[in-house]
Amino acid sequence: LKAVTFAAKKHEDQRRKGRRQLPYINHPLRVAEILWDIGGVRDVEILIAAVLHDTLEDTETKPDELERAFGADVLRTVQEVSDDKSLPKAVRKQLQIDHAPHLSRAAKLIKLADKIHNVHEVSHEPPADWPRARVVAYIDWADAVVAGLRGVSAPLETAYDAVSEKARRKLGSS
Ligand code: ZN
Repeated sequence: LKAVTFAAKKHEDQRRKGRRQLPYINHPLRVAEILWDIGGVRDVEILIAAVLHDTLEDTETKPDELERAFGADVLRTVQEVSDDKSLPKAVRKQLQIDHAPHLSRAAKLIKLADKIHNVHEVSHEPPADWPRARVVAYIDWADAVVAGLRGVSAPLETAYDAVSEKARRKLGSS
C-alpha cells in the first residue's frame, strides 16, 4: 500500500494516452494485478516493483528516493524496466528488444504484464491521434520485445499471445 500511495502521488497529474484519458495510476495497478491473477506471482518485492515500474521513467522520482523507501532490490528491478529517456525514442524501442533476453526474472515478469496491459489498451482504445498503422506497428514491436522475455511464466506468455492475437484480429491484420 505504501508503493500504491507513492506511485499514485507521483503519477497524479498524468493521464493514459487512450481516448478516455484515464488516470495513469490505473496502469501500474493493473500490471501488478495481472502478475497476481494471471502470473500467480506472490513475491511482494516483485509486486511492489510492478506498482512502481513507471515512476523512474515517467515522473520526477529519483533512484535514491526509491531505494530509501523500498530497498535496493526494488530499485534495481525498476531500473531494469525503465528506458533511458535521454536516448531518442527509436533507440529506446530497439534497446527494449535487445535487452529483453538479459533481464532478471523479476523484470521479465513485470515487462510481460506491462505489455499485456499496453497492447490490450492500445487495441481497445487507441490514442485519438494514432492511425491504424501505428497501432499495428506498436503490436509488432511489443511482440518482438515479448519474444525475448519468454521462459519465465507460461500463463503470462499465453495471456500475452491471446491479447496480441485478439488485437490483430480486431484490426484485421493477422
Ligand atoms: Zn508501464
